[in-house]
Amino acid sequence: MSTIFKKIIDKEIPADIVYEDDLCLAFKDINAQAPVHILVIPKKEIPSIAEVTPEDQSLLGHLFLKAVKVAKKLGLDQKGYRLVVNTKDDGGQTVYHLHIHILGGRRLSWPPG
Ligand code: 5GP
Repeated sequence: MSTIFKKIIDKEIPADIVYEDDLCLAFKDINAQAPVHILVIPKKEIPSIAEVTPEDQSLLGHLFLKAVKVAKKLGLDQKGYRLVVNTKDDGGQTVYHLHIHILGGRRLSWPPG
């Protein structure tokens, strides 16, 4: 089932896009939890990381490499940042289209809530 992120991919609703290619899209989270909060999503509709298959192996590598590239472009690589993949209800996932959160620009606490 499609989510709001599919509408962002199809440009049916606006988003502040910071990176895009054939396979993925990165845009600012509408409810930022840190000075920098970006979502990196595949254009392929995969509900969560729990649903990936071996055929997604290169796509997953692509998503993480692009998350690192975007983090660097936004100046996070020196002080650091966090990549987060919330998964299903207990993982805190609210949008069921696989996404990597890039969080940075402040000191993040651990453990998470
Ligand atoms: P999750 O909780 O599933 O890991 O993360 C979903 C994220 O999507 C949340 O941080 C939420 O703020 C963000 N989000 C939900 N709807 C929209 C939207 O329409 N536009 C943007 N840019 N972010 C959204």
